[in-house]
This record gives sequence, C-alpha cells and structure tokens, in this order.
Amino acid sequence: MKLKDQVAVVTGGAQGIGKAIAAALAGQGARIAVCDVAEDLAAKTAGELKASFQVDTLALKADVTRPESCEEMAKKVQEAFGRIDILVNNAGITKDNLVMRMSEAEWDAVLDVNLKGAFNCTKAVCRPMMKQRSGRIINICSIVGLMGNAGQANYSASKGGLIALTKTCAREFASRNILVNGIAPGFIKTRMTEQLTDEQKQKLAAIIPLERLGEPEDVAQAALFLAGPDSSYITGQVISVNGGMYM
Ligand code: NAP
Repeated sequence: MKLKDQVAVVTGGAQGIGKAIAAALAGQGARIAVCDVAEDLAAKTAGELKASFQVDTLALKADVTRPESCEEMAKKVQEAFGRIDILVNNAGITKDNLVMRMSEAEWDAVLDVNLKGAFNCTKAVCRPMMKQRSGRIINICSIVGLMGNAGQANYSASKGGLIALTKTCAREFASRNILVNGIAPGFIKTRMTEQLTDEQKQKLAAIIPLERLGEPEDVAQAALFLAGPDSSYITGQVISVNGGMYM
C-alpha cells in the first residue's frame, strides 16, 4: 500500500479520468475526497470507492472556478481527514469553436475551469501542504496544450497555461517538499471524447503509433506514480500519456 492513510483531493473526480485516478489512489490505501460540481455523481463515486477499496471517502460539491468554493473544499477535507497530501487538478471542460467564431463566453468559461480552477485549488491546499512540509500536486493538462489543435484555442491555451503554472508552482514549492507535476493525456475514452464520430476516432487511431485511443486507467497509472514514493525526485515535469501521438 504505497499511499496508506494519505489524503487525496481529486477535482472533477465524479467520472471519467478523475474517477479512474481516484480509484487508482484508493487502491493504494489513500483516503479520497471526490470534489465535483456534479454533486450526486460525486456521492455515488465516493460510495463506490469506499465499497471497493475499504478506504474513507468524502463527496464534496465544489466549483473550482470560485475561490471561496475551493477554500471551503480544503477546509472540509481537513476537518474530515486532518490533512491534505495530494491534489489532483483534474476538473476540465471544452467549448470548441474556430477562433473567428469563438465567443468571449466560450473563451472565458474554459479558461475559468481549466486554468483559474487549478490556480484556485492549488492556492487553497498549498498552505496546509507547506505546514506539513510535504505534498503532491498533479495537474491534468493535455496533448493539445503542447501541440495546439484547430477548433480548441480556448482549451489548448488553458492547458498550455496549466503546463506553465505546473512549472512555476514546482519552483515555488520545492523548498517545502511539495512536488508539482503534470500529465498530458492524448485522446482518452471518456464523455469528453464521446461526441467524436466513429470515423473521427478511426482517423485519430490511424495517427497514434499505439493505434488506439487511451483508457482513463492509462492516465490514472501515471497519476499514481506521480503521487507515490517512487517519484520523489521528480518535479516540474509533464508526462505525456498519448500512445506516442506527440513526441
Ligand atoms: P469528464 O468525463 O467530462 O469529467 C470532468 C468532470 O469535471 C465532470 O464530472 C465535470 O462535471 C467536472 N467539472 C466541470 N466543471 C467543473 C467545475 N467548475 N468544478 C468542479 N468540477 C467540474 O472529462 P474527462 O475526459 O474525464 O477529463 C478530465 C480531465 O482530463 C480534464 O481536465 C480534461 O481536460 C483532461 N483531458 C481529457 C482528455 C480526454 O481525451 N478525455 C484528453 C486530455 C486531457 P459536469 O459533468 O457536471 O460538468
């Protein structure tokens, strides 16, 4: 049990990649706070994790775009579990459009969740982590934050910004033994990629050296590594989990 009794906060943890990460961490003994705007789903996921892995879990309604909601989330997790060891900034949305058609509202909504949300949550947990002189922050970035993608100016900019935030926080927090790293997934089978047509998925698979879309568990294993004792000399890095699509 590599994470026995550690406390992990997973934003957007009710489903998709966040849920898979929460399960991987729980499987190694971590207590899990599932934080999501989707309150009922967060409660369902927290219940499933508790039953499957016999760890304490907590479901919290949290909107990462609101600083006060993130502060409240950090407070409640500490009240319930006494500490916070791991933060996974996973909550994310897309609102795709070509730049010439993208509205200010589409731009703002995506930047608010994907980039400002990670800043808000990091700010809320960094003080207790600094006092403990230990912590892990894992930011779920994206392949398109590295290579860009037509139709995703808002999303790719938010993920590129998140990569820069990862590196800056890694530098700021290193002296307190808080390690900050990112994961840049390629195309992963979740609700986010569900709207792709079969033809689009086949075209994608054709340009992925491993010839398939990724599973949420592929990302979760990288998160588990970054959360655990085997990565104690790694900070400010972004691990690509993309089947070789971008090298
Ligand atoms: P998902 O299945 O849509 O799950 C995202 C979760 O985040 C949802 O439960 C969503 O709730 C929640 N959320 C949205 N806005 C939030 C907010 N303001 N505060 C708290 N929670 C919020 O997406 P996913 O595919 O698992 O993606 C997870 C992360 O991986 C995202 O950061 C995404 O950008 C990144 N990623 C995904 C892929 C991919 O191919 N799937 C690739 C690269 C990176 P609602 O359902 O109520 O909105």
